[in-house]
Amino acid sequence: MRGLRPAEYHKSIFEIDLDKLRRMGKRAIMLDLDNTLVRWNDPTPTPALLSWLAEARAHGLQPCIVSNNRGARVREFASRAGVPFIGRAGKPRVKGFAEAMQRLGVTPDETVVVGDQIFTDVLGGNRAGAYTILVVPIDRREFIGTRLVRIIERRVLSYLQRRGLLTEK
Ligand SMILES: [Mg+2]
Repeated sequence: MRGLRPAEYHKSIFEIDLDKLRRMGKRAIMLDLDNTLVRWNDPTPTPALLSWLAEARAHGLQPCIVSNNRGARVREFASRAGVPFIGRAGKPRVKGFAEAMQRLGVTPDETVVVGDQIFTDVLGGNRAGAYTILVVPIDRREFIGTRLVRIIERRVLSYLQRRGLLTEK
């Protein structure tokens, strides 16, 4: 169960305490795309997201999108947002995160992973040795395969909640 437990849980990326991450010595923030930054397959970064990315940079956190979605979707969004990216990352495998860390020149200890899914983002981030943050998905609309995984995910979430292992901080 340890690999499935995020270090923090928030309603959205906007609730994340960037200053705290900076003080913890974090230097990179790897972001899931769909339902973490925007709605599933939404091609346009919102103004609020763009200013949040600027704020992350101002806190010494280099943003990088790490997504399992197809390369063209991720590339288009990342170029509009002006951030580096890894597409078809194969989360929860470590490979995509390791590649992103190498590209940004950071260690696992300096890395934060943010996403809306326990079985890809949190599990993959924990395996990669990063500090993981789970956020509530932006929208209910998503990939059919994801909808099935959500059923199991809800059970894990309620298990963690019952044991006080899921903290909003
Ligand atoms: Mg997602």
